[in-house]
Amino acid sequence: MGAPQAFTDEREIAHWIAGRRESGQGTRTQPVWNPATGQAARQVRLAETADVAAAVAAAKAAQPAWGDTPPIRRARVLNAFLALLNRHRDRLAAMITAEHGKVFSDAQGEVTRGIDIVEFACGVPQLLKGQFSDQASTGIDNWTLRQPLGVVAGVTPFNFPCMVPCWMFPVALACGNAFILKPSERDPSASLLMAELLQEAGLPDGVFNVVQGDKVAVDALLAHPDVAALSFVGSTPIARYLYETGAHHGKRVQALGGAKNHMVVMPDADLDQAVDALIGSAYGSAGERCMAISVAVLVGDVGDRIVPRLAERARALKIGNGMQADVEMGPIVTREARDRIEGYIALGVEEGAQLVVDGRGLKVPGHEGGFFTGGTLFDHVTPSMRIYREEIFGPVLVCVRARDFAEALALVNAHDYGNGVACFTGDGGVAREFARRVQVGMVGINVPIPVPMAWHGFGGWKKSLFGDMHAYGEEGVRFYTRQKSVMQRWPDGTAKGAEFAMPTAR
Ligand code: NAD
Repeated sequence: MGAPQAFTDEREIAHWIAGRRESGQGTRTQPVWNPATGQAARQVRLAETADVAAAVAAAKAAQPAWGDTPPIRRARVLNAFLALLNRHRDRLAAMITAEHGKVFSDAQGEVTRGIDIVEFACGVPQLLKGQFSDQASTGIDNWTLRQPLGVVAGVTPFNFPCMVPCWMFPVALACGNAFILKPSERDPSASLLMAELLQEAGLPDGVFNVVQGDKVAVDALLAHPDVAALSFVGSTPIARYLYETGAHHGKRVQALGGAKNHMVVMPDADLDQAVDALIGSAYGSAGERCMAISVAVLVGDVGDRIVPRLAERARALKIGNGMQADVEMGPIVTREARDRIEGYIALGVEEGAQLVVDGRGLKVPGHEGGFFTGGTLFDHVTPSMRIYREEIFGPVLVCVRARDFAEALALVNAHDYGNGVACFTGDGGVAREFARRVQVGMVGINVPIPVPMAWHGFGGWKKSLFGDMHAYGEEGVRFYTRQKSVMQRWPDGTAKGAEFAMPTAR
């Protein structure tokens, strides 16, 4: 296999409405950067309210026929999409690296985890089966079925431009809904390729639409009376805003927010494994993952044993253009995000944490304009510091010392966020206790990034998720459908007369 081909084409990224690229009514655009070079590579259109209205109208027109299509035939379209996604996996991955910056192998992994959900969606007809009670009362049957909501929308973050949309639309479409995707304006190209592949797979025009844009587009979706439900993944303040505003407009909302994921390392853990796990999960994708480990909770004497090893590995990270084969960590998505991360490093120093490895000011030869920062490591961080409490969303690992298991667990449970967590230990009893007692939605035992498989569903607790349904899996099917209950009697011809008492089983 040759070297992967970089994504360089397209100057303007448009919307996708009713099966066509559309420039839309508005004139606003925004640059999309290649973070490895610091160059504005293309421009993305930013939708106005009228563009959202056009997308919703297209979706509303197309949904009834799609919702009436037998589930197995809808699944066949998704099956054809699955084959196309597999064929175009590297093209999508190159787009992601060009606009997000993550290394190509990581982008391939992202697309593969998206493909997992499409595979799950192909089996959704099994989960749409109703439940039937024969003879609920004499001569009466009762059954429940699940029907699509209609037009639903998804608003997604920059850090997984393929995988996170795939948490939503394959399941929503399999359930018979029409879908409107509002991807991140920072890396929007993948959304259009997925739209084209869905069309090639046989999805009727209008069933899947993309509006590029910012808050204007999101607010238009929130207020539109024909949008029945919204799925959101992004930062906590915006997740809360969508949840509250969507509820105000009477919509069903699931809104996944930010994270500050801890990894507890017990004194009996395999330290080689723990070091590998911390380095990969803290610095992989430059820490721009909602399941990145950003806090190491070092129990007992682990701190003194592990911090020098972490420092050595953090200093040795191979950082550069993600299209180069040996690179382990790419740039940060934008200059502003890089500056925010480096601002947090300065804050950590001010707050009195010990800066063991300082990644600030990194220059990559040949990529001097790129938005790079190195891997940063802090030790002796305390729970009152902002670098401990707030999500930095960059390659910054903070180490906190804990006396024992109880103190480590209490620390995790007291944190505002509850997305992912890990415990590295050699003791099954400790592992079991940890998994049962921890107040976090997704737990890894000797697994640093426990992203659940497609059929289990993804979701955090506390400020990491607003709403009661997790993304994808059976909860995803429930989110994108509503239950209907039917009671049926076929009269036998004998008149019963009016009944005034509450009917009961007889
Ligand atoms: P973000 O919240 O800035 O943006 C997410 C989406 O919301 C984008 O489509 C954006 O256009 C839109 N948006 C931004 N500001 C808005 C506003 N004021 N009103 C309405 N819409 C607005 O997030 P991001 O920087 O793109 O992504 C990183 C964040 O996402 C991190 O906090 C990360 O933890 C989180 N994330 C969470 C999960 C999860 O599963 N919990 C997964 C991935 C990312």
